[in-house]
Amino acid sequence: MTTLPTTGASWDALEREMSEARRADVDWRRGRTAVYIHYAGDDVLDIAKRAYAMFFSENGLGPRAFQSLAKFESDVVGWTLGLLNGSPDAQGALTSGGTESIFLAVMTARDWARANKRGGATPRIVAANTAHPAFNKAAHWLGMEVVRVPVGADLRPDVAAMAAAITPETVMLVGSAPAYPYGMVDPIPELGRLAERHDLWLHVDACVGGFLAPFVKKLGHPMPDFDLSVPGVWSLSADLHKLGFSAKPASVILYRDAALHRHQGFRFEDWPRGLYEVPTFTGTRPGGAIAAAWATLKHLGTSGYTDIARRIMSVRQRLQTGITAIPGLKLIGDPELCIFSYGADGLDVAAIADGLTDKGWLVGRNARPPAIHFMLTPVHEAMVEDYLRDLREVAERVRSGALTTRGVAATY
Ligand SMILES: *Cc1c(COP(=O)(O)O)cnc(C)c1O
Repeated sequence: MTTLPTTGASWDALEREMSEARRADVDWRRGRTAVYIHYAGDDVLDIAKRAYAMFFSENGLGPRAFQSLAKFESDVVGWTLGLLNGSPDAQGALTSGGTESIFLAVMTARDWARANKRGGATPRIVAANTAHPAFNKAAHWLGMEVVRVPVGADLRPDVAAMAAAITPETVMLVGSAPAYPYGMVDPIPELGRLAERHDLWLHVDACVGGFLAPFVKKLGHPMPDFDLSVPGVWSLSADLHKLGFSAKPASVILYRDAALHRHQGFRFEDWPRGLYEVPTFTGTRPGGAIAAAWATLKHLGTSGYTDIARRIMSVRQRLQTGITAIPGLKLIGDPELCIFSYGADGLDVAAIADGLTDKGWLVGRNARPPAIHFMLTPVHEAMVEDYLRDLREVAERVRSGALTTRGVAATY
């Protein structure tokens, strides 16, 4: 344990110490990490930083004080609804990230179910086992249960098995666009039909795909329907701080209509300070992140996002082509967007991942089946050749028996 110093420090001293502290951090600017960072270039980053700094101190908890932030939020929600085909009745809010968006959707579904006398004491959610852990986290805190259904042989959700998992306690279904482990978009129209047949709430987790899929589709790549235009979809999450390329923390939660959205907010009066009413989970809301989201979206516009989508699809193609040219390596599944993974036949994937780690790559590892996982953004344009060169060398050493695994577990 350390104690807070008695005397303060100057910025020069602090900057030196912080630069030192980050020396061993991953070199994300050169695309050395396959996770955690979403970077589309210094021009976009600079806009987000300037907007963030401009509203650094402002607090979105106080729309009375900051009409600016209220307008930014309303614009961002409106633009996102437009991209994701919300009807004129659709509504939404800005949140602190995918986890909060999902938490709110789960809570709102639970309270909708309660209001309709559904779900019993422990309401259930049915999801494919590829759905994000945030659903289990939300259910854990909200007194609910998630039934996770194994995906089929094609690694996509088995809709018949999900249908068979529905019980009288079920109130919600989950679909992902895409699901994180294999990067594939769930069959949302089929899940929507299932939800409608049983009068269930279908949430689409488009935390990764929300600000990418519309543009990938526009470019003519195959992209199944997944948004609010699909019958049965009642809520949808899309992360601004991922493929929206905005500042952390920021995401959007959208609802089909006001009748669903009204279950989301919180009001409290039983304390001396009068009515306390908030639209989301957090109290204080970062003005910087709200302003940065607005500025980033408006800076890029649909042409900027389309260009980013084109670059991501091209990086994916180059990596996939290079990887499949290496004997023994194979792609896993058939992903549509920015996530893909590869495994191996007759080669130990864990040993390959260890070898890449030793060469300074922060490797994403899938547990089942063992695979190496990528979450691509344009930052990876710069690393393709270096990566493939290192991978060829590491794979060869594993093939010859010169390199074996240290036995590192797959960790997000
Ligand atoms: C990142 C992610 C989340 C959670 O979002 P956070 O912003 O990390 O809270 C949810 N679902 C998917 C598919 C994700 O990739």
